[in-house]
Amino acid sequence: MATSPLTDRPALTVGQAVALTLLRDGYTQRAIQARTDVAPDDLYRLATAHHITAPHGTCEGHACHQARGEDPCGPCETAQARAEARARAQQRKKIPPALRARLASGARRKAVTR
Ligand SMILES: [Zn+2]
Repeated sequence: MATSPLTDRPALTVGQAVALTLLRDGYTQRAIQARTDVAPDDLYRLATAHHITAPHGTCEGHACHQARGEDPCGPCETAQARAEARARAQQRKKIPPALRARLASGARRKAVTR
């Protein structure tokens, strides 16, 4: 057994090291990617490998739990659920008003003819 777990772990680039520091300090995934070019997949994989975790009660914290293959804690689960609800609301807003009116009237027509 010549290899040790420490040497098996690839060295971090400066960008990755900064990304992990930002993650630990509570920066959002989006802000971290914008500053360091580290993709979320890599970020959480590296965080797991280096035993770094984002603050609990955040989406990033939730992703850290997932990357470690464990169930999220309560605050992280709440934060993630809130973010997903927000994303869904945003998605609804993207439907153009004209289309939304058409969908609504279509539904009404169906209700009347049946
Ligand atoms: Zn947590």
